[in-house]
Amino acid sequence: MMTKSVNNSTEIARHNLLGMTQSRLTDFLLSIGEKSFRAKQIMKWIHHCGVDDFSLMTDLSKALREKLMAMAEIRPPEIVSQQDSNDGTRKWVLRVTSGSCVEAVYIPEKGRGTLCVSSQVGCSLDCSFCSTGKQGFQRDLTASEIIGQVWLAVKSFDGFKAHQKVDKKNGQIINADKPKVTNVVMMGMGEPLLNFDNVVDGMNLMMDDLAYGLSKRRVTLSTSGVVPMLDKLGAVSDCSLAISLHAPNDELRSQLVPINKKYPIAMLLESSLRYINGLSDNKRVITIEYTLIDKVNDSLPLAHELVALLRDVPCKINLIPFNPFPLSDYQRPSNNRVKAFQRVLNEAGFIAPVRTTRGDDIDAACGQLVGQVADRTKRKQRYLSNQNSNEEQSVRIVNGLQ
Ligand code: SAH
Ligand code: SF4
Repeated sequence: MMTKSVNNSTEIARHNLLGMTQSRLTDFLLSIGEKSFRAKQIMKWIHHCGVDDFSLMTDLSKALREKLMAMAEIRPPEIVSQQDSNDGTRKWVLRVTSGSCVEAVYIPEKGRGTLCVSSQVGCSLDCSFCSTGKQGFQRDLTASEIIGQVWLAVKSFDGFKAHQKVDKKNGQIINADKPKVTNVVMMGMGEPLLNFDNVVDGMNLMMDDLAYGLSKRRVTLSTSGVVPMLDKLGAVSDCSLAISLHAPNDELRSQLVPINKKYPIAMLLESSLRYINGLSDNKRVITIEYTLIDKVNDSLPLAHELVALLRDVPCKINLIPFNPFPLSDYQRPSNNRVKAFQRVLNEAGFIAPVRTTRGDDIDAACGQLVGQVADRTKRKQRYLSNQNSNEEQSVRIVNGLQ
């Protein structure tokens, strides 16, 4: 429920219908004395037609429209900026609370268009190579803010029925060649499994035919390994699963992904296998994400260790060359090192594409999303002051002052 200020004095509470699944919307309508079948009508207006104004919902009675106008709203996050990269990638900075912003990124590829969606303002898990983690954590996004990223992206490409222009002569859609959101990955800012209920509602809307109707193979949740929540996911979702692994042994992974100290690799892989084996469709595989960091986790012995670790895991491995961000000490490996690592995996029979960096010119690549986080954890200050003292130290060493 959102609160809106009217005339700077009265506060009225409105229910944001954008993030309500059919069952939540039905409960809401019943609670205000309306019939449950209205939920389907309203969802189609919101998610098929892109309508955010109740007065345009012409198959609802005038009385219901007025009631909804008084007590509800359809409100996506506010767009602060939209940037287009030379390669067709589009990035939005979205304000979700005064002072805090998250980012969403659209990546066009041959035959598909992937939207990378944020789940939290910042992230509490502090992986050593991720700029979102360095921002600290503020809060979970609501389901409306999560599905609102999809709603805004579809709208920006004129993808809603209301914006489609039909050729009167042959009935064909004139603007059918505009970019489309065919896939969603929960790989923006935040750890989706730490915002479980809202992420599940958002993803279920992405897959619901009354909303975006994306196939379950095309909606992917990416996690750094919150095992207890992953164990609960199968009961409420059948989305695809990506695991951010980044290292083949616990010693190294715990340095890169601190949550590994709590839920080590064996536990994470067992939980991932239980999830994937529980899906009705037995052809699904786990996507393993492996960010390659120069001379940290990209050596050939580590590639062989990864092969041994994943031998019995049905998976494909996405290799992501590290994307630098300000003040990070890590480097991206050379193409030769990346190719050599990839070759070991390929020769062992793994599909292991190198994910080419997209939207580099607008800082839209994995791990570069920073938004603007009013940080409650003060991590950003700690990070910056550590970096500054490291820098000071290296300046002193260079100047022979140490
Ligand atoms: N929290 C979730 C989803 C968001 S991160 C997770 O960790 O899986 C999405 C992906 O981007 C993860 O695989 C993450 O490891 C990767 N990533 C983060 N920072 C990166 C960087 N600087 N360069 C390349 N990939 C990065
Ligand atoms: Fe959080 Fe994922 Fe970044 Fe780790 S990689 S800090 S879990 S967003």
